[in-house]
Amino acid sequence: MSTPKWRNAFALKCPTCGEGNLFQSKHPYDLKNVLKMNSKCSSCKEDFEIETGFYQGAMFMSYMFSCALCLALLPIYAAFNFSRDKFLDNVWYYLVACFIALVVTWPYITQLSRAVWLFLHLKYVKHKPTENAESGI
Ligand SMILES: [Zn+2]
Repeated sequence: MSTPKWRNAFALKCPTCGEGNLFQSKHPYDLKNVLKMNSKCSSCKEDFEIETGFYQGAMFMSYMFSCALCLALLPIYAAFNFSRDKFLDNVWYYLVACFIALVVTWPYITQLSRAVWLFLHLKYVKHKPTENAESGI
């Protein structure tokens, strides 16, 4: 049993083996098929459908990545609007830039969120101590 790896999740591959695709479409910007996932890994048969509603938790990951993207744009905006008055007067440019960045990246962020959510789940399950060891059976 191999350990899930971060780099596989960021490449939208099976977190366990890094060979099979998580999503049916190989390109995140295939907008009709953004959310269509394979049910199992084509290489190691890792189950991607853990339970009904499992990927609702990926919304937290999506929120986190969206906030990180907007925070990453803040120093760029601040560099061009260094004085306080200019910073506040031009804040709409920052908000529009964030909106555009989020619209452009949402397919990848959506798929990445699911991949990271699955990675975190698999990492927890594969490192959980056995129940027999805890209960002494
Ligand atoms: Zn796999």
